[in-house]
Amino acid sequence: TAEPGGTDSRQDDTTDEERDMGEGRPVRRAVVTGGAGFVGSHLCDRLRAEGTEVVCIDNLITGSTDNLRARAADPGFSLEVRDVCDPFDVAGPVDLVLHLASPASPHDYARHPLETLRAGAHGTANALDLAHRKGARFLLASTSEVYGDPLVHPQTEDYWGNVNPVGPRSQYDEAKRYAEALTTAYRGARRVDTVIVRLFNTYGPRMRPEDGRAVPTFVTQALAGEPLTVAGDGSQTRSLCYVDDTVGGILAAAAAVHPGPVNLGNPVELTILELARRVRDLCRSASPIAFVARPVDDPGLRRPDITLARAELGWQPVVDFDKGLAMTVDWFSRLGLPPRSPVSG
Ligand code: NAD
Ligand code: UDP
Repeated sequence: TAEPGGTDSRQDDTTDEERDMGEGRPVRRAVVTGGAGFVGSHLCDRLRAEGTEVVCIDNLITGSTDNLRARAADPGFSLEVRDVCDPFDVAGPVDLVLHLASPASPHDYARHPLETLRAGAHGTANALDLAHRKGARFLLASTSEVYGDPLVHPQTEDYWGNVNPVGPRSQYDEAKRYAEALTTAYRGARRVDTVIVRLFNTYGPRMRPEDGRAVPTFVTQALAGEPLTVAGDGSQTRSLCYVDDTVGGILAAAAAVHPGPVNLGNPVELTILELARRVRDLCRSASPIAFVARPVDDPGLRRPDITLARAELGWQPVVDFDKGLAMTVDWFSRLGLPPRSPVSG
């Protein structure tokens, strides 16, 4: 029987490469777009640790080669600095295309609205075309932002979302929603073996101190003894997943046959005020809390329902929040004197 999305509904025109894809097939060579970013660089490291050759494609708009320092002398890794919005090819075989290239923090996509829309539209089309040409499985790194300011809580994959199409987050939310639609269309019309993962808030080492997201902002503020800028009254919630867990979920989805969309996140939910307090305590900081204006369209509640990921991918997060936060604080404290960080949005 066919699943929604057509996992088992392949017709006779399915390519040999597509038949080869799926659970158990070794991935010898992967392309990671956005591999110089926060999540992407951890993904590249994990793939290399598993023996997969990696070609990283990144234009460094929000990423950095600093994140790839461990890969500098790695013969199984290469970085191509280019914009995925321009058509591109990769020489040689490719088993898996992991498409992460996109500005991701509210601060970044507010600064780069057109680049964000182009990454979701043209970038996703070019990455899908590559997967099509190579007969590779394709993974789209989508986001919990497709649910917008959700009216269903916790969020399940069958919820269609509550997105303002012309609001200050629309360039990101709608780019990802279009990217999901495009991925679904390539699966149906071009028989590309695809999977969509919806990542929820992820944190950990290599977040940029100035990217405006809550975790790096609070940590750098607490370490500097500056006020922690909590938006609104801090009662809005997020569910934070340590980056190693997110990467594990991405690779579990890549190795499975399910087309998604599938939520990847940690269902443990915190208010932002509670997050600020936990960061402050962990940093042994005396920073006061400063309540600042809440960004427009800032989602009020966010928590993933990960029933599908548990059932289909055998995946769930394992890193305890306090432990993950301690590893993150430790990493930031080694960066030296942190710069002042603005509130996101
Ligand atoms: P990031 O900004 O650290 O990484 C994104 C990377 O993509 C950067 O290295 C950037 O230079 C690159 N990039 C952007 N546009 C590009 C283009 N046109 N061509 C080539 N490279 C380009 O962000 P991140 O947090 O690592 O997010 C990675 C992906 O995961 C994004 O697609 C994001 O939407 C998704 N995601 C992340 C989170 C999270 O909490 N970190 C949550 C949901 C979804
Ligand atoms: N936030 C905050 N202070 C900051 C940065 C963010 O209170 O300095 C809030 C933000 O308004 C949102 C939550 O923290 O309610 C998470 O924001 P983040 O940018 O980390 O992620 P996203 O909004 O994309 O989930």
